[in-house]
Amino acid sequence: MAATYDPNNIFARILRGEIPCRKVFENEHALAFNDINPQTPTHILVIPKGAYVDMDDFTAKASDAEVAGLFKAVGEVARQAGVVENGYRTLSNCGRDAHQEVPHLHIHIFAGRDLGGMIGRAK
Ligand code: AMP
Repeated sequence: MAATYDPNNIFARILRGEIPCRKVFENEHALAFNDINPQTPTHILVIPKGAYVDMDDFTAKASDAEVAGLFKAVGEVARQAGVVENGYRTLSNCGRDAHQEVPHLHIHIFAGRDLGGMIGRAK
């Protein structure tokens, strides 16, 4: 069963302006900001402005305009960050097995160094 959206999760609070973020981009349907604990020299999170728990929730319920707005934001952020030439990785953790920590959909953009192989072997 799909998880219920928690309106007090940290990204909901960022969207409401209750806590600060280092914003890098915004459009009608998406907000992008620097990750507070960067794993790579460039580590940006792109989130929908709507209340969606994860990729499953978003792709089941969001409008076409919201889906377009989020994914166009990902590309725009990467271009603005200057990471297209050397390359970048997008990643979105969905649910327990993916170790999703914040229950508001977010797409990570990693760049700025060689990112290695695609995924580590599970324990
Ligand atoms: P995930 O494990 O995919 O849910 O990733 C959650 C990400 O959110 C982690 O990379 C955290 O460093 C990041 N994060 C948590 N709190 C904040 C915050 N207040 N501002 C920016 N990034 C955050």
